[in-house]
Amino acid sequence: MSFLSEIKRRRTFGIISHPDAGKTTLTEKLLLFGGAIQEAGAVKSNKIKKGATSDFMEIERQRGISVATSVLAFEYSDKKINILDTPGHKDFAEDTFRTLTAVDSVIVVIDVAKGVEEQTEKLVEVCRMRNIPMIVFINKMDREGKDAFDLLDEVEQKLNLKVVPLSFPIGMGYDFKGIYNIWEKNINLFSGDNRKNIEETIEISDLQAPELNKIIGDRAANQLRENIELVDGIYPEFDKEAYLAGNLQPVFFGSALNNFGVRELLDCFVDIAPTPRAKQSEERLVQPEEDKFTGFVFKIHANMDPNHRDRLAFIKIVSGKFERNKPYLHVRNGKKLKFSSPNAFFAEKKEIVDVSYPGDIVGIHDTGNFKIGDTLTEGETINYKGIPSFSPEHFRYINNADPLKSKQLFKGIDQLMDEGVAQLFTLELNGRKVIGTVGALQYEVIQYRLEHEYGAKCTYENLNVYKACWVDPKNSKTDEYKEFIRVKQRFLAKDKQNQLVFLADSAFSLQMTQQTYPSIKFHYVSEFE
Ligand code: GDP
Repeated sequence: MSFLSEIKRRRTFGIISHPDAGKTTLTEKLLLFGGAIQEAGAVKSNKIKKGATSDFMEIERQRGISVATSVLAFEYSDKKINILDTPGHKDFAEDTFRTLTAVDSVIVVIDVAKGVEEQTEKLVEVCRMRNIPMIVFINKMDREGKDAFDLLDEVEQKLNLKVVPLSFPIGMGYDFKGIYNIWEKNINLFSGDNRKNIEETIEISDLQAPELNKIIGDRAANQLRENIELVDGIYPEFDKEAYLAGNLQPVFFGSALNNFGVRELLDCFVDIAPTPRAKQSEERLVQPEEDKFTGFVFKIHANMDPNHRDRLAFIKIVSGKFERNKPYLHVRNGKKLKFSSPNAFFAEKKEIVDVSYPGDIVGIHDTGNFKIGDTLTEGETINYKGIPSFSPEHFRYINNADPLKSKQLFKGIDQLMDEGVAQLFTLELNGRKVIGTVGALQYEVIQYRLEHEYGAKCTYENLNVYKACWVDPKNSKTDEYKEFIRVKQRFLAKDKQNQLVFLADSAFSLQMTQQTYPSIKFHYVSEFE
């Protein structure tokens, strides 16, 4: 197959949802359609159970699963589909944000009874900012939930999207009869006593046809006609270009658990979802069809075996072919590196591959060369944008609890930060180190891993910080900036990239500081124009 056909047949996406909406179940059903797994239950949920904070076995189990489910690839209708795992738990939200820099589109799963939940709102917002094409799947239609139109309104308002239903439920909960596929103009019915079997697809060229009444009964038939008339009246026609530009979001209804409405979703997805997209680097826009390889690291995973310090760096291929044993330039440190055993990921295994194409993810063994966000090329000096750090929610001093092991401690902290487990800030005043995390769970993880993988011990000490703000002086020569540096020294720190950060201790003090130094900009994100 030609290089261009390989690119065109790739679909790399993520499934995002609030925990429990059905992401794992849907993933599994998609893999079953692709023949990538043989039975239900093969995909492990990477959910963190309540109370896991103090359960280190749980943390280790979690890390194992998270490697196993990082990328799930399968073939369906001549397409190569790569699903990138996005943890739903809010303590791992940063991991998900970073993964979203490597997807070309997403599917958003929403629970019909719970509607739009907090984590969905946050993740969709990130996708919206990046104009990532999104398809919405409203799940659990076999349960009583919200009215379909009310839910569509909620999705539009809370998620700030413009929706167009491409399927519509016939009934719900106990009365759930099936799905009218607006996209293909046919009906799929739930049947049998256990309601798990799917009857054959019935082509419906005309909703007014009297057969419809025979098939689903008068009441449901009339209701469906009314609903579809409303859909036609309220929502715009589906427009693929608008979807690809991130301006229109198709919606499907179904029940992942019962494998209902999933095929409709998948068939439409392979048809409309984007092929690998061009990516902006600091220097220029890079097209997937370019013949020279480029890619970037969006995830790093430490080896599960503490005796082997090497890590797995996940690289998204943006352009050209990635080939085994070919030397590539690590742009940040200027080194040429060769990879003798790059891994490709499939649903139940990983394998060494000779060639990978744009849209694919390869995992390469790393002995400490990579950081999240690093760019690899065939020689060109470009840097991919778009893996910013966000202000952490929690801040603690980290102290060395074993003076003989300070080297190990620093090395451990350094590597864990490169993996993106948390963020490190070094105070300007006294050089003390502060760890910032999104969730409290990370402190336990860090302490445990420092001890088990690096033989170092640490303790924490509370520090009252409201937000970390990256300081953008606009002009660092002004008296105003010099005064800011002098007066606020106590609150200033450097991040790992040596960028200056203001650790505001309250919303009020941040506001006062902004007022006192109006020419300085404070950002909650480490990357800004
Ligand atoms: P995740 O946290 O988003 O990965 O959610 P899971 O896929 O683990 O699903 C959470 C729970 O919802 C599990 O108990 C599933 O069996 C259940 N579930 C998923 N899909 C459906 C569905 O279509 N109908 C019903 N009734 N339950 C579902």
